[in-house]
Amino acid sequence: MTAKLSDKVAIVTGASSGIGKATALALAAEGARIVLAARRSEKLDQVAEQIQANGGNALPIKTDVTNQTQAQQLIQKANDVFGQVDILVNSAGIAILGEIDGANPADWQRMFDLNVLGLMYTTHAVLPILKAQKTGHIVNISSVAGRIARAGVGAYNASKWAVNAFSEALRQEVYQHQIRVTVIEPGLVETELFDHVTDPVARQHNLDRLRSLRPLQGEDIAAAILYAVTQPPHVNVNEILIRPTDQER
Ligand code: NDP
Repeated sequence: MTAKLSDKVAIVTGASSGIGKATALALAAEGARIVLAARRSEKLDQVAEQIQANGGNALPIKTDVTNQTQAQQLIQKANDVFGQVDILVNSAGIAILGEIDGANPADWQRMFDLNVLGLMYTTHAVLPILKAQKTGHIVNISSVAGRIARAGVGAYNASKWAVNAFSEALRQEVYQHQIRVTVIEPGLVETELFDHVTDPVARQHNLDRLRSLRPLQGEDIAAAILYAVTQPPHVNVNEILIRPTDQER
């Protein structure tokens, strides 16, 4: 059987854990050469070794995507090394949860710097390359929280709403260049995401929610991404909303 992505190069941010890691492994298993980006270089090296042990090709690049220069360098280096960039998966993100009253606005800044601006920086950097190639695919990881607001999730909701709005405007700007844009909106996925929630009440609440059902795994989201990026060129999967069967909303 021919691998579906054997002529493709994919950059995955947030590739050191969770959804990004699972996506990097899934795209590599279909033959894509993978550029792995995140801040923890030892974790990226482990993912790269795993891909290489399976006969794939992976290049780890330590990157803080909230730094515009680093985001630009990531895209540039990927293009310099492989001579093309076909897929960008923006998976790097954090969830800082808790009520608006009493929240620390510095946490909001940190979350918007990553969830919104980081994704915008990598997108901005890759667009000239994709336009020159007249092909490319940008996959942005939003959330169910990008479609449904809930008390205690307001700031995260706002960041993911921004991802959805940016992605749709982007799609309208680039479709004539044969560049596709897909938004993925996962429900609860068992990853490190909730380990980084600083508010202890919100953290416990979300860990309890996660334990109350059969959560999705990173691999489930990776399969949805793989579906989107392996469609024929005339098909643009704009949006995939994917919840655990047990999750109500
Ligand atoms: P993880 O915490 O497992 O992964 C987050 C990734 O982002 C890590 O690889 C982390 O790596 C990376 N990251 C964090 N800060 C930066 C930074 N400044 N620069 C570059 N990379 C960074 O969580 P998930 O895999 O669950 O999250 C991935 C995406 O999925 C996020 O956008 C999240 O909002 C979204 N999502 C998750 C859901 C869930 O239930 N888990 C549900 C819906 C959406 P490092 O620390 O090494 O930099």
